[in-house]
Amino acid sequence: MKKIALFPGSFDPFTMGHLDTVERGAKLFDEVIIGVFVNTGKHSWFTPEERQKLIKESVDHIPNVRVEAQTSELTVNYAKKMGAQFLLRGIRSIKDYEYEKDIMTMNRHLDEELETVFLLANPKYSHISSSLLKEVLLFEGDVAEYLPKPIYQAMLGKRERNEK
Ligand code: ADP
Repeated sequence: MKKIALFPGSFDPFTMGHLDTVERGAKLFDEVIIGVFVNTGKHSWFTPEERQKLIKESVDHIPNVRVEAQTSELTVNYAKKMGAQFLLRGIRSIKDYEYEKDIMTMNRHLDEELETVFLLANPKYSHISSSLLKEVLLFEGDVAEYLPKPIYQAMLGKRERNEK
């Protein structure tokens, strides 16, 4: 059976840390599906459709990766619909560990067949988050090396439009 992993996240924006997790996940699974989810608790710069398009451009070099945008569905139900037996998540720190453990336990309660696989963040990227990058970029700090090129360009565009 094909091993399929769903990598769910809000990805607002998708960073080099996310990309690193996807590249490593793509070596472990036959297919990785990046699921762009709406996070109701976070203020977003990009619509899910914009994020989907930008992520597609950023993972173009990995053949077994697909990008889907979905709006309001429980992760476990979406995984089942996509035929995924695994969830892929990244852990940067103890803080992430605590948060991810609760989500994993809840997901296991909802569907005990679905296994969550965690990859520890690459130390090069373990200090970055989408929100930190947005904040630094807003005040014109240089964060280019932490973002895939198409995403960095799109963010500069958003910032300029916001300034007008
Ligand atoms: P969510 O809103 O679901 O937390 P995010 O887009 O912030 O979505 O993150 C998606 C996943 O990627 C989470 O498991 C998160 O811990 C992980 N992640 C976030 N930033 C990094 C990073 N720099 N390196 C590795 N994994 C990361």
